[in-house]
Parts: sequence; C-alpha cells; structure tokens
Amino acid sequence: MGPVNSIDALAKATAACRRCPGVRPGSAVLGPANGGVAAEVLFVGEAPGRLGAGRTGVPFSGDESGKRFDQLLASAGLSRERVFVANAVLCLPLDAQGRNRTPTRTEVRACAPWLTAILGLVGAPVVAALGATALAALGSIEPHGLTLGKAAGRSHPWHGRELVPLYHPSRQAEIHRPWARQMEDWRALNGG
Ligand code: SF4
Repeated sequence: MGPVNSIDALAKATAACRRCPGVRPGSAVLGPANGGVAAEVLFVGEAPGRLGAGRTGVPFSGDESGKRFDQLLASAGLSRERVFVANAVLCLPLDAQGRNRTPTRTEVRACAPWLTAILGLVGAPVVAALGATALAALGSIEPHGLTLGKAAGRSHPWHGRELVPLYHPSRQAEIHRPWARQMEDWRALNGG
C-alpha cells in the first residue's frame, strides 16, 4: 500500500485494489459520501450490500438496513454530517448466484490495512462497531477482547479512543437484540 494522506487518495487506492477474488472488482465504497475526517463518530459496518451501498455508493442507503441506520442515528441525536461510515470489507461480497454474503475472514484480514488507514485519517474520538464482523475487524487492528453480546451499548477504551460495540442495523439482528434495546445501546454514542 502506498502513502495515503487523504480520503480522496485512499478512495483511489481502494478502487484499484484487487486483493479479494470473491468480491465485485472495483466496488469499494469510499469517498465523500462516507463522511468527513472531522467526524465525531466513526462507524464500521460489515460490507456494502447489493441493494444498498453497492448500488447507491452511499453507506447505509437505499435498503432497509440504511433506513434503520438513519433511525438509530437520529435516536442517538446524531446526523450524517457528524459521522463517518466505513466498512470492515470495503467491496461488495457476492455468492455464486449474485446474492449478498457475509465477508470471509480472509477478506476482513485483507481489508484491515485499509481500515487502519481510515482510522489514521478520521480522528473521531468514538469508534462504533456495527456487528460482530466489524468488532472482529477492529480487534485485528488492536485486540480488545470484547464480544458483542457482553459489550454492546457500552463504551470501552481502545486504541486511544472509545469503542462502542453495537448490533448491525439489519432486521436479522433483532433476533439477538430487540429494536428498543438497540436504541438504548446507541445512546452510548452520546455518553448516555
Ligand atoms: S475488500 Fe478491501 S482488500 Fe478486498 S479487494 Fe476490496 S478494497 Fe481490496
């Protein structure tokens, strides 16, 4: 990886990245739509979705998870202008039938240097992991020993910042964490 000293340079570098054979080539979602480097909260999601960011180029937009992300953001008293949204895996992982799939550990490992570069550029004092994949990706950058079930909704010192593990905003996460509880979890982003 060459030197990257701006989100623009990082966007160009990640657009050209071909480390992962199982993702849509050149589909990294990174650019001005992710947020600004002065963001107060840096969110880390899992990967772009086929009907969401993989189509719109804007993280958490255009699909149900995007709508739910905006609702949770509002419940925490935050707005898109105040946050940056990254992903553990920047490109769109698809299965052989062209459907969304969970990124593999190998893909998460391959993309970790890009996530490290994003952390270096976006100095947000609070980092929020959205789901287990994001939490594991951050743990590969600096171990935190946290698990989602035990640590969600609370702030933990990590890597010179505060790390807040949260459930992914997808509807499936409600199996593990009811919606009302997730709204409570998100208040930890505002010290609540
Ligand atoms: S997911 Fe990350 S490491 Fe893999 S090809 Fe895309 S930018 Fe490169």
